[in-house]
Amino acid sequence: MQKGHIGVTTENIFPIIKKYLYSDHEIFLRELVSNAVDASQKLKTLASVGEFKGELGDLTVHVNVDEKAKTVTISDRGIGMSAEEVDKYLNQVAFSGANEFLDKYKKDANAIIGHFGLGFYSSFMVAKKVEVLTKSHVEGTPAVKWTCDGSPEFTLEEVEKEDRGTTITLFIDDENTQYATKTEINKLLNKYCKFLPVEVGFGKKTEWKDGKEVELDEVNVVNDTKPVWTRTPSELNDEDYNKFYRDLYPMSDDPLFNIHLNVDYPFNLTGVLYFPKLKNNVEVQKNKIQLYCNQVYVTDSVEGIVPEFLTLLHGVIDSPDIPLNVSRSYLQSDGNVKKISGHIMKKVADRLEEIFKKDRESFEAKWDDLKIFIEYGMLSEEKFYDRGKKFTLLKNVDGKYFTLDEYKDIITTNQTDKDDQLVYLYTTDVQGQHSFIEAAKNKGYDVLVMDGQLDSHFINSLESKFEKSRFVRVDGDVVDKLIPKAEEMKMNLTDVQKQDLTSVFSSQVPKGDKTNFIVTFEAMGENDTPVMITQQEFMRRMKEMSQLGGGGMNFYGELPDSYNLVVNGNHPLVTRILEDEEAAVGEKVSSLRSKIESLDKKKTELQKAKEGKKDEEIPQADKDELVDIEKKISDLRAKKEEELKGFADGNKMVSQLIDLALLSNNMLKGESLTKFVKRSIDLI
Ligand code: ADP
Repeated sequence: MQKGHIGVTTENIFPIIKKYLYSDHEIFLRELVSNAVDASQKLKTLASVGEFKGELGDLTVHVNVDEKAKTVTISDRGIGMSAEEVDKYLNQVAFSGANEFLDKYKKDANAIIGHFGLGFYSSFMVAKKVEVLTKSHVEGTPAVKWTCDGSPEFTLEEVEKEDRGTTITLFIDDENTQYATKTEINKLLNKYCKFLPVEVGFGKKTEWKDGKEVELDEVNVVNDTKPVWTRTPSELNDEDYNKFYRDLYPMSDDPLFNIHLNVDYPFNLTGVLYFPKLKNNVEVQKNKIQLYCNQVYVTDSVEGIVPEFLTLLHGVIDSPDIPLNVSRSYLQSDGNVKKISGHIMKKVADRLEEIFKKDRESFEAKWDDLKIFIEYGMLSEEKFYDRGKKFTLLKNVDGKYFTLDEYKDIITTNQTDKDDQLVYLYTTDVQGQHSFIEAAKNKGYDVLVMDGQLDSHFINSLESKFEKSRFVRVDGDVVDKLIPKAEEMKMNLTDVQKQDLTSVFSSQVPKGDKTNFIVTFEAMGENDTPVMITQQEFMRRMKEMSQLGGGGMNFYGELPDSYNLVVNGNHPLVTRILEDEEAAVGEKVSSLRSKIESLDKKKTELQKAKEGKKDEEIPQADKDELVDIEKKISDLRAKKEEELKGFADGNKMVSQLIDLALLSNNMLKGESLTKFVKRSIDLI
């Protein structure tokens, strides 16, 4: 037996490996199974170039767990190692056999995984002793056993071994006993080895018989050696892609569609990405794109490799060219990785455009689900905006879809305002804003549905890209003002009447600290709505964006919701309210008004007399009189308000009109709604 010292430069490499090198102890299994798969692939390569003439036979890699003895065994029938090779490959760390092999067989060995550096030694993260039993494929080479207990000392001896290949046994240490269980190993195989290119067997297949699970005589193969991304698209159909999707994310709905990536210049990359059908946000977090390196699972955090907005997609990316054991910040600055990211984005845009052109009907059918990805992409990547503007769709309230260009043509004639600006009308709530939508449609306008999560941002972005255009929410103003045209209607009300009506309506609007109503007047037609509620476009957008977390906009979020209660000055019902008011409190109100007016006159005179004088030059009596007048005016005003309020309180029509306006905005709730119903019955 030979004893020796492993060729490392420091005595303490094992503790380092154990503690710091790999934060994820579990990857030891990935490393060892990958090595076994490598060794098998290498033998295939040797056979294909005629250097190995024996029988390849069954190359399945076997993984076994002995729960009692606390051992994990990985065995292969690959190339194996001679004593010299063991010494060279296992004893001299950082001497990667894979590199040497790659050099020698560059052309045929492109499927070699040897990529993870200190792979083999990661077994010492979980094992107190490792035993390697190996026999080279070269005929006549004696088998050897190498053991090492985690110190730099090892033993190497000749032993008997019938079959070629390597069996590695890990004696799991006391801190890592969970790895000596079948459940855990099964879980890890499923995570890291599911798509390895050589069959990996773990235990036997089982079957349920008479309520019991019985073992069959067949090996339980844990992997699919030819996952779809390694195959040619022309031999695959939708069902193959969907089946693979279900393998990756068992509980999910079928995806919207897939993109098969296959690049070999200037870097190697294959993969399949899916546009998922998102049911809720939880899923966005859970199902992620998985990154593989030659079919070995590496990670599911692909930030930096895939453009941010595409991290919402699902699927697999496989590339031997992505540096794996480096930090994220390095990844982001790596030129190659940037190219990969740009390329993936281009591919995604190509595919979307292709589907749009080839099968617009199905593209439209999927649009509502797709939209969030595309808007996100267009908002976050200028390059994607340039591609996306060709196939982005706008949907109107009738469920019709248009490209940006098509839509522009449709609305140009009817929706250009007097300043030559194109006005895009939209709704965020088809049910809630129904009456406004109807009013707009009656005018021949078209209304878009913009109720998506990103729509308010998207609208801002479109406004900044489009020329001479703006978006206006359909309830942003009365229909005649949504798109101001040259001719304007005449208003029937006098200023005094407006004043009184303002008091009348203000006294009856809902009061609360979160909402605030301002009474305004518009000259509309007799057949238009008598009273309606609108919200200022600018303010509403600011508040919405602050809810979405737009930076520095919290200020807007704190403000109360401010609405306009718009009274149609030309509506017969409004005229009737005025008549009723005149009859009920007209005399009192006009006498109060004339008193206020004469006091106002007096006040102006006194103020005029003060002009240009210094404070001490004004007689005290005049000052006192002014204060007195001001007080009288405000008392009289309050009285007038009170009279008008008294009238409004007893006038069902005022409350009824306000409630109807609230109702068509979906704002009438709770007790107010009950009152409204009761009042409506009374009125009938
Ligand atoms: P890497 O795989 O990155 O080269 P490892 O430390 O995992 O690094 O392995 C070192 C070398 O040991 C491998 O390159 C290979 O030559 C040899 N080796 C490891 N496992 C096996 C195996 N199961 N069969 C044959 N050779 C192996």
